[in-house]
Amino acid sequence: MLAIAAGAVIAALYRPAGTPPTTPPASLQVAESVALARPPAATAQPASLSDTTPVARLIPPLASDLARLRERGFAIPVSGVSAAQLNDNYLQERAGGVAHEALDIMAPRGTPVVAVEEGRIAKLFLSKPGGITLYQFDPSSTYTYYYAHLDGYADGIVEGGKLSKGQVIGYVGSSGNASPDAPHLHFAIFKLGAEKQWWRGTPINPFLVWRDARP
Ligand SMILES: [Zn+2]
Repeated sequence: MLAIAAGAVIAALYRPAGTPPTTPPASLQVAESVALARPPAATAQPASLSDTTPVARLIPPLASDLARLRERGFAIPVSGVSAAQLNDNYLQERAGGVAHEALDIMAPRGTPVVAVEEGRIAKLFLSKPGGITLYQFDPSSTYTYYYAHLDGYADGIVEGGKLSKGQVIGYVGSSGNASPDAPHLHFAIFKLGAEKQWWRGTPINPFLVWRDARP
């Protein structure tokens, strides 16, 4: 992965400013990742699994993003799980040799999934990899929180609806491409671009919102 990333960095550096990327965003291609859950309208660009590093991913999230998110005192999105129980699986390799770019939290099927903070439901989406998913915008529409592999939504969850921190949005499951034997919540954070597209953004490692990286 490092070699691939380094190659992509070099390719990006040598691309003249203003030239559009020649590949669709990796987020449109990654199995078990947010962006495969793209809307039908975005299917025009065929995806190649061998070429998956968009420029957006070469820009690390600012330390200030992490600081801002930490200040908010996020709830852990799976009921009954503590920060000490989280495992950092952000960089784990997934199908196609791409990084996971999310946090998997294992829990029994049916465990309540709660909103990490207040905000608005941007999209309820059913995708092949993510299964039953929910995209939440934070109150300033700067970040998206993505909850995937749900068993189902909680009562009263509708697109555009407001969420409060800790509100139950759904239940842990294995919908999409998760193993039925290993129900879990796939949780991702994206910093939205100027267009505020709910399916697209720069990923931020959720683990680091609750825990420090291992030395
Ligand atoms: Zn995952």
